[in-house]
Amino acid sequence: MYISEDELRENYRKFRDEDLVRIAVRDAESLTPEALQILKEEIRKRGLQYTEPSKPAFLILEKPLLDSYCYCIQNAFCPNCNVQGNLNRIKVGTVFGIPHFHVSNTEHLILCNSCSKSIVAKKCLYSFFLGVWTIFPFLITMFRNINGLRVFKSSEPSELLVDFVKANYKEIEPIKGDALAISLLLNGVNARQEF
Ligand SMILES: [Zn+2]
Repeated sequence: MYISEDELRENYRKFRDEDLVRIAVRDAESLTPEALQILKEEIRKRGLQYTEPSKPAFLILEKPLLDSYCYCIQNAFCPNCNVQGNLNRIKVGTVFGIPHFHVSNTEHLILCNSCSKSIVAKKCLYSFFLGVWTIFPFLITMFRNINGLRVFKSSEPSELLVDFVKANYKEIEPIKGDALAISLLLNGVNARQEF
C-alpha cells in the first residue's frame, strides 16, 4: 500500500506528543527517510524536545564485530547433529540430466565439518546416479562440492559465511551469546534451502 507524504503528515498530526517522540527515539530506524523527515517536521512544529538516538554500534559492521559474529556462528551447535563447534558455510550442488540437458541446484548450508562431508557425499552420489551423463556439468559440480570442503582445513570463516553474517547481523546481534538460539536460527536458514 502506498501512503503519500500528505497522508503521512495528516497521520502524524493525529498522534499524541509522546507517541511522536517515542517513534522518533525508538523506531526511527524502521521508517523511510521521507517518513522520518515528516515525523521530525511535526515534532519541530509542536516544539517537542527529544534526543535523537545515536546509531547502534552494529550498524557499522567493522572487522572486529564481523569476526565476533562469525566466531559465534562457528561455535554454535551444528543444526544437523547438535555437536558444538567447527561450523562453516558451504555451497553444495546437485546435477541431473543427460548430455545437452541438465538441471542443477545449489544450496548454501551452515554445518559442522562431518555433516558437511556427509551431505557432500550424499549429493555427489545423487548426482552420480542421475547426472553422470551430463558429463561436464557433473564433473564441475563434483569438483566444486569436494573443493568446498576445504574451508574446514582452517578455522577461518568461509567467504560464504562472512556474506551470511553481513546479510543477517541484525538477527544475530540479539542472540550472539546464546549458542542454542544461534543453532535454531541456522536450522531455519538451512531448512529454507530444502536441506
Ligand atoms: Zn553436524
